Amino acid sequence: MVEVGRKHTKYLQHDSYSMKTPFHIMLIPTMGCPARCNYCWSSEAGSPVMDIGTVHDVVEWLKDFRNDRITFTFHGGEPLLAGAEYYRQALPLLAKGLEHLKPVFALQSNLWLMTPEIATILAEYHIPVGSSIDGPEEINDIQRGTGYFRKTMKGYEIAKAHGVDVRFICTFTAGSVKRRADIFDFFLKNRFTMKLHPALPSLKSNQPGQWALDPAEYGDLLVYLLDQYLDHLGEIEIMNINDLFRCVFTRHGSVCTFVDCVGSTFAISPDGDIYPCYRFIGMPEYCYGNVADSPSLEDIKKTDAWKQMHQYTEYVDSACGVCAHIRYCRGGCPYNAIVAHGGVDKGVDPNCTAYKRIFSEISERLNREMGEAMPIEMTPFGSAPQKKRKSGIMALMRTIAAR
Ligand code: SF4
Ligand code: SF4
Repeated sequence: MVEVGRKHTKYLQHDSYSMKTPFHIMLIPTMGCPARCNYCWSSEAGSPVMDIGTVHDVVEWLKDFRNDRITFTFHGGEPLLAGAEYYRQALPLLAKGLEHLKPVFALQSNLWLMTPEIATILAEYHIPVGSSIDGPEEINDIQRGTGYFRKTMKGYEIAKAHGVDVRFICTFTAGSVKRRADIFDFFLKNRFTMKLHPALPSLKSNQPGQWALDPAEYGDLLVYLLDQYLDHLGEIEIMNINDLFRCVFTRHGSVCTFVDCVGSTFAISPDGDIYPCYRFIGMPEYCYGNVADSPSLEDIKKTDAWKQMHQYTEYVDSACGVCAHIRYCRGGCPYNAIVAHGGVDKGVDPNCTAYKRIFSEISERLNREMGEAMPIEMTPFGSAPQKKRKSGIMALMRTIAAR
């Protein structure tokens, strides 16, 4: 296992980001968080809050760094710990100072600290919020701590009342996956859009099996959710299935996990250090520099951190070379791979098993349904049509296209 600088690593909650713009900056106002989720690794008690001067430095750094449309995601820890005044100052600085990059914003929060004041600011900048609920209250609070569900729902009501769009991310663990039907029903009944993450083993836990979702079980879960989605088309949206389908259909990744994220994504720690992703914060060997020094892309490319990240990309080209899904999988998440295998060239994302399973399932169903849609004389060897579900992959394709 690779040694990391993070102090509170327990279990990895996987976040993958939609690549809505070609350039993505994760701003981490603080690594502090008031919650104590059992599998969380990304909070640090006593973490400082990003100074507004650092936001000025971010603007100066990015002005001429790369001429592409940009998404800023405020992440943590818990980014609302920075308070309303931080957002009141930071948002106009970023929006006006980088107007030429047409910035859009997003925020990832447990919503405990949501106030009408913060919600008003977020609504003004059309900032969607990704929050976390792992299913019904009893399942959620086993994983995230007693009282979590109610605090998040209270914040959700405030955000909703002010017109803020909130979507929930559901982390499946070794325990909660056994209740997958209850969890799916919870999202369906509440009309919540679903996005899911698998809990992965930590670097430092004494009991790595306690929460981590086994990759084979994760694959089963994705196929189960695909079937549920098709049976309830029009009643729920499952973002991961949409993304996986887009990968197969366009043959290009649409979330960071399935593209080469190195160079298109950067994270800024509370003290202005630049990393490949928020997950690497606290791992000094992966630090590219500091925004106060305004490093150019050329400067960053000379760092050992950049060279290490690129070694992973090269490793994927050889390790996944024979895989049918390499074009739109790209070896999965480099962080997952690096921490699981203890280096940049020792293995790919451990969720490879799950990715292969669901990509193959979607590809096979798509090919089969396209074959069935052909006149009988055009189907290979006149193969017999298969039994149809209520809705199939082609119906999902039409639903996604209509959106
Ligand atoms: S390391 Fe890359 S793929 Fe993994 S979460 Fe970060 S940006 Fe996404
Ligand atoms: S499915 Fe596995 S082998 Fe195929 S590209 Fe993804 S990580 Fe590599």
